[in-house]
Amino acid sequence: MNKISVLSTTVITIAAICLIIGCSKDNTLMKDANLANDNVTIAEDLLYSDLTVEELPDCNFEIISSVPLDEVEVEMLKYVREEEKMAHDVYYVLSGIYKKPIFNKIMESEQDHMDKVLCLMIHYNVEDPASDEIGEFTNDQIQELYDYLIDLGTKNIIDGLTAGAIIEDHDIKDLNDWMELTVKESIISVFTNIVCGSGNHIISFSDLLDGFGTEYSPIYITETEYQDILDAGSQFCGF
Ligand code: MN
Ligand code: MN
Repeated sequence: MNKISVLSTTVITIAAICLIIGCSKDNTLMKDANLANDNVTIAEDLLYSDLTVEELPDCNFEIISSVPLDEVEVEMLKYVREEEKMAHDVYYVLSGIYKKPIFNKIMESEQDHMDKVLCLMIHYNVEDPASDEIGEFTNDQIQELYDYLIDLGTKNIIDGLTAGAIIEDHDIKDLNDWMELTVKESIISVFTNIVCGSGNHIISFSDLLDGFGTEYSPIYITETEYQDILDAGSQFCGF
């Protein structure tokens, strides 16, 4: 048989099968093929039923693996989701106090980080610990850090920028530590993106502090890690 007749035989066969089982009515067969590939995008039935359409994040990246999370991975997603919210909420408060556009700009980036973690949580069906209220956290450690940073950051602009640098310093250290505890590519990919953003954020805070004649000294990452980030300069952090 030549190629054309193989093709037409195939088309006729598929058409015949479709006449019997009704292929055009749904794409169940295609969905199953995707799942078998272990390379799934978020299916509607995995979405939280209590999230309204407006609250759904833009999960415009592919999440690889349908292998369930272990306990530590569940914990790290919940923790990082709230850590990104903590950053977002501190910048939200500081953007209301200081005229510097940096707080508002970085706050938007933190919303993006929160959304990306939420995409993972939806995919893996992990319950979201993040409250809708600014400054409220389920994790006590994060609540404590938020309270401290608000206390510090609202004193004056230099302390406000320092609070920002501390947030990013803390974020980079935590995310790098969490990444040691998973081999899930989807988690590593999102966390790497967040660490990259945090690097850009700490550079911005450091530059502005420089302008005030103040030098930030890292608390969580090492001086070498901090210098490497400053030396590398701003990065493009897309997927
Ligand atoms: Mn962030
Ligand atoms: Mn940040």
